[in-house]
Amino acid sequence: MRMLLFTTIAALQFSCSNAQIKNKKNVKTMSEAQNNPAFSRNSQEKVDMKEEEWKKVLTPEQYYIARQKGTERPWTSKFEKFDEKGTYYCAACGNTLFQSNTKFESGCGWPSFFEPVNKKSLLYLPDNTLGMQRTEVQCGRCKAHLGHVFEDGPPPTGLRYCINGVILGFEKKG
Ligand SMILES: [Zn+2]
Repeated sequence: MRMLLFTTIAALQFSCSNAQIKNKKNVKTMSEAQNNPAFSRNSQEKVDMKEEEWKKVLTPEQYYIARQKGTERPWTSKFEKFDEKGTYYCAACGNTLFQSNTKFESGCGWPSFFEPVNKKSLLYLPDNTLGMQRTEVQCGRCKAHLGHVFEDGPPPTGLRYCINGVILGFEKKG
């Protein structure tokens, strides 16, 4: 078992450093993933990591959002006013979440999208905290808290995925 775990971690690290070489443009975003055994831009395998481990590999702000269901202050995300073409992924595990062509200006203060990349990208959970009935959105691979989804978005879905930018990574197209 220990041997298998070691092999898996080694394989994940290898695929990560491989991504760095292939994708020089994104070296900066990929560095978020340094020493993070969960991080992969192509694995579909579910991530089940202990809280102490997450604490080591995420920044304090990312840990607060992803693992403690925190919310970043509105209007503070670099992605809030950002319209480059590319792909948004989970900064905690690398899972692809949204394409830039589903991003829109919602005016709510957080990066907003009307559709995830696919159904499995996200998990949906009822959230009845703060006296509201909301639907929480988590990363489908590592269960990082991402934000909430509301039913007041634009066509074609009518949905507004209101996402904390702290937990997003971005890979430029091309
Ligand atoms: Zn994730």
